[in-house]
Amino acid sequence: MLVQQILKARGNNPVITVKPGTLVADAVSTLAERRIGVLVVSPDAERAVGILSERDIVRSLALRGAGCLTEAVDQMMTRNPVCASPGDSSDAVLKRMTEGRFRHMPVTEDGKMIGIVTIGDVVHARLSELSMEKDALQGMIMGH
Ligand code: AMP
Repeated sequence: MLVQQILKARGNNPVITVKPGTLVADAVSTLAERRIGVLVVSPDAERAVGILSERDIVRSLALRGAGCLTEAVDQMMTRNPVCASPGDSSDAVLKRMTEGRFRHMPVTEDGKMIGIVTIGDVVHARLSELSMEKDALQGMIMGH
């Protein structure tokens, strides 16, 4: 399955972004309100200049204490996140997520962000694909 099909199946939901300069405390509120694990940092909701995961926040809190909540997201985010393209396969995306040890990838087309996929979306797509392949093979073996 391709990334564009995964996005379509999920209803092409808009990506939740925050602007550079947003306070980490405000980002925490947005993560909680939206019940999501990452925010893409973008000045215009098109260019993904960074990504801020709940893991980044937990790590900073443990290392530096609550003072980090009054910093800007720019200090805590991962810059230039690895992005997927709509034509990438679920296998290729899963490989990049596993190798990079992250669970989210913004999807960009012509330099513009059009969605985001999570490791959960990709695993779900792969499992559906494998189940269909199994049924097809079983049908061939059983002769129907
Ligand atoms: P996650 O597993 O996605 O919650 O993120 C784990 C770590 O990887 C955090 O430090 C994130 O900032 C970073 N990260 C998340 N997504 C990406 C990505 N697409 N490219 C690069 N780093 C990322």
